[in-house]
Amino acid sequence: MTTTAEDRLQDYRRTLRGWLGEHVPANPTGDVEEAKAFQAALYDAGYSGITWPKDSGGQGLGQAEQQIFAEEAAAFEMPVRPFLISMGMCGPTIVDLGTDEQKRRYLPPLLRGEEIWCQLFSEPGAGSDVASLQCKAVPDGDGWVLTGQKVWTSNAQWADYGAILARTDPDRPKHGGITMFVVDMRAPGVTVRPLVDMTGGAPFNEVYLDAVRVGPGDVLGEVNGGWSAAVTMLGHERVTISGLRQKRSNGLTFDSLAELGRRHGADPVARDRLADLYAHQRVLELFNARMRQETVAGAAPGSRGSVGKLAGAMLLRRAVDTAGHLAGANMVAWEDGDAGAESVELGINSTPASNIAGGTNEIQRGIIGDRILGLPREPQVDRGVAFRELKVGTQTSAAGATAEQAEKGVS
Ligand SMILES: Cc1cc2nc3c(=O)[nH]c(=O)nc-3n(C[C@H](O)[C@H](O)[C@H](O)COP(=O)(O)OP(=O)(O)OC[C@H]3O[C@@H](n4cnc5c(N)ncnc54)[C@H](O)[C@@H]3O)c2cc1C
Repeated sequence: MTTTAEDRLQDYRRTLRGWLGEHVPANPTGDVEEAKAFQAALYDAGYSGITWPKDSGGQGLGQAEQQIFAEEAAAFEMPVRPFLISMGMCGPTIVDLGTDEQKRRYLPPLLRGEEIWCQLFSEPGAGSDVASLQCKAVPDGDGWVLTGQKVWTSNAQWADYGAILARTDPDRPKHGGITMFVVDMRAPGVTVRPLVDMTGGAPFNEVYLDAVRVGPGDVLGEVNGGWSAAVTMLGHERVTISGLRQKRSNGLTFDSLAELGRRHGADPVARDRLADLYAHQRVLELFNARMRQETVAGAAPGSRGSVGKLAGAMLLRRAVDTAGHLAGANMVAWEDGDAGAESVELGINSTPASNIAGGTNEIQRGIIGDRILGLPREPQVDRGVAFRELKVGTQTSAAGATAEQAEKGVS
């Protein structure tokens, strides 16, 4: 009897489904040690870095296996949040751009859940326009010294390493003088401060870099080629974020809202909104399924990743409106221990972040307009102008921020 590729994939699915059922904790605590243990178990079972090359510590399998993993994992709440940036963005960028030495040093511990990474792009004056960044890397011997401030750095509180963008040549136009480095988050001069968001959690941080040394082996990609490295990582980021939205059970999916409607009674307006939500959710699922099939067939998602990212953020907004309508007064007061209500509340308070993280809705619309619809590009007044001639940014030092915060009476 011969085994076809289809049989092998079915076996893969069956074994994976059994493994997930046995190993994913029923009620994940969200604790970082739990995430590390789970990531290590994924690695031992051969489910970490499924498509990464074997010489980078991965499994060397294809997009078909990756797709099966995404489909099967969607049924579980896997405790992997501290590893989303490591596995979804930094790791794949090292696979694409890292030297052999960097791949050997950084990828295996990342895949085994021993080391966590963060992405240090955004600054107080450089978010949508990342290339306006001011964090500088000044040559020093055979390395550089980093000084500057980063903000909204998810997972920095746990991170061992970060992929950081810094300005290495202010005499070049803003996109041309940036370099991506690997920075040790425990190095002298790195200060991480949590930022509390409206859910009450502190998923991201401010990071200050005060004369932090990096060596020649810490350049990721080319010196002054950091913009192209950033574009590589942002491409991985959009795909990761689209996948997340499929998986997250945040109380705002059609199924959980329909259940809320059954419990609280759905009036005709609520029914109309639920039907509208179902239709939009289904369209997005089909769009994402098609993108995945095209990826399996070898086509890069390119700018179309922005369509999925924007549509996902808009879908969540619709879900929030529907949840508000269904919950009524329960939006502001509910019985203790009503897990459904708490998860809707968390979903509502988390939703604004999805319109911003990974590039705002306006920026996605700009990308779709320019690169997919072929509309005229926004005028760029800084094209060809040396960065040092531009007026950008609002940087402070860690010490400056402390003094400013003390003055305002905030911690
Ligand atoms: C939950 C979360 C996690 C994050 N994690 C990270 C992380 O780990 N690492 C990291 O580096 N960053 C992270 N970020 C930062 C995120 O990438 C930025 O917040 C985002 O790119 C927007 O930048 P900004 O906040 O500076 O807003 P701004 O760029 O100041 O934008 C303000 C407003 O102006 C609009 N706008 C700006 N430019 C244009 C334009 N050209 N056309 C139309 N409208 C425009 C924007 O859409 C927005 O509505 C995270 C953000 C969130 C919310």
